Amino acid sequence: MKDVNTDALKTRLVDLVNQHAKLAQVINDSLFSFAELGFHETESSKFLTATLEQNGFAVQRGVAGMPSGWVARFGSGGPVIALGSDIDALPNVSQVPGLAYHKPLVEGGPGHGEGHNSGQAVNIAAALALKELMQREGLPGTLMLWPGIAEELLAGKAFQVRDGLFDGVDAVLFTHVGYNLETGWGDVTGAGGLVSVEYAFHGASAHAAAAPWRGRSALDAVELMNMGWNVRREHLRPEQRSHYIITYGGEQPNVVPALAKVWYYLRETDIENVRKNFDICNRIADGAAMMTDTSVTRRMLGASWPRHYNRILAETVQANIERTRLPAWTDDDQRFARVVQRAAGGKEVGLATEVAKIVTKPHSPGTDDIGDVSWVVPTVQLRYPANMASLPGHHWSNAMAMATPIAHKGVLAGAQVVAGSVLDLLLQPERVAGAKRYFTEVQCKDQTYVPFIGKDDAPPLDLNQVAMDKFRPLQKPFYYDPTKYDTYLEQLGVVYPTLEPPQ
Ligand SMILES: [Zn+2]
Repeated sequence: MKDVNTDALKTRLVDLVNQHAKLAQVINDSLFSFAELGFHETESSKFLTATLEQNGFAVQRGVAGMPSGWVARFGSGGPVIALGSDIDALPNVSQVPGLAYHKPLVEGGPGHGEGHNSGQAVNIAAALALKELMQREGLPGTLMLWPGIAEELLAGKAFQVRDGLFDGVDAVLFTHVGYNLETGWGDVTGAGGLVSVEYAFHGASAHAAAAPWRGRSALDAVELMNMGWNVRREHLRPEQRSHYIITYGGEQPNVVPALAKVWYYLRETDIENVRKNFDICNRIADGAAMMTDTSVTRRMLGASWPRHYNRILAETVQANIERTRLPAWTDDDQRFARVVQRAAGGKEVGLATEVAKIVTKPHSPGTDDIGDVSWVVPTVQLRYPANMASLPGHHWSNAMAMATPIAHKGVLAGAQVVAGSVLDLLLQPERVAGAKRYFTEVQCKDQTYVPFIGKDDAPPLDLNQVAMDKFRPLQKPFYYDPTKYDTYLEQLGVVYPTLEPPQ
């Protein structure tokens, strides 16, 4: 197809995306109000799948052993393009949007302090526009939408990969909230890959005062394991990051704990070193069990390979970024951003006004389980400007903009880039072939994907159950009702932006 035709189609496509601005805002605000922790994204998934079905997508629910998982498809034949984005919230970061000061919606409750409420709004607005254009122009191809489940636990995508969600997919366009239109290719430097594993020590209980010699303390084993790891840290590469929490340590001091559990995240920049540190950690656990005459079992809770993004896909996305302007931020948007940035102790940089250049050595201090996907299908990530830079991350301040005009406009800009990029792939089969060639001949030349998740590992669906049982009833009165209110801000009675707390 000639460029001039592509150009005319893209202009029409952007118009179609913009026609879904209202739906995108409703999706964004609804998910913000549901704020569900990983594996419990039930309201979010119910809402998203219903929306997709109403719009002619065929939905399959409960995929990859996860009740909140799903896949939605439209179209037929190749190429098969998969649009993904995470939907889970974070614990303890509940926040009223549009206020530049900390005020939880539900005290201690979950919240979208990472902005995972916005990505499906991006993808659905893009997908509906693409569907309309594909129907009108008779373009072949399949669109597949899917959610990242429990991304904050790095516990979803490796299971989705294992269970074949991406079989037959030609390219994955993954969207993640950010503060500019950005993409990149190559190995992502930073905290790379991760193993999330819980060690359970099994001892024997006894009266802690009357007969302690008859007990074997599982908690002692946890403590010795942590001591062992903390001493060993000094002799690991400085690039590693590891952290743990004790998830169970007994019930009360006068009973020798027969069971104790500790949950480790082991991160390294490359897969060989993740493996090496995982082996060391397992040996230390065995050592602690030996010292205390207890036994140890372990449970994989999640894992992520270091990410590698596809060059051809990234260049396709970048061309569409440069075609899309950043949103027209108002003075209110900019003022709000600066006040929040100041309050959070960050640089007052406001909101971006120029699109980012393509990054060839992407950096991320965190881990994302899209890593596993990127080793089975050519994958690229688009970050879109629905949030503010300079914030701490995983924090209530990161939720402040996520149901305001900043998020609404950023989502739409992201949707325009996604739609344009997918259109390029639909119209130019050589791009899809090029992406595959890069994947096989460059990315996977010296590296073969060997997952950490085994065939018998199951998604840890019990995680977050206690928190959601406690908070869901408290969150329900705050669910967004788009039939009564234009925006969630209106429902909450928030005047945007509110920069100062009431005196
Ligand atoms: Zn995220």
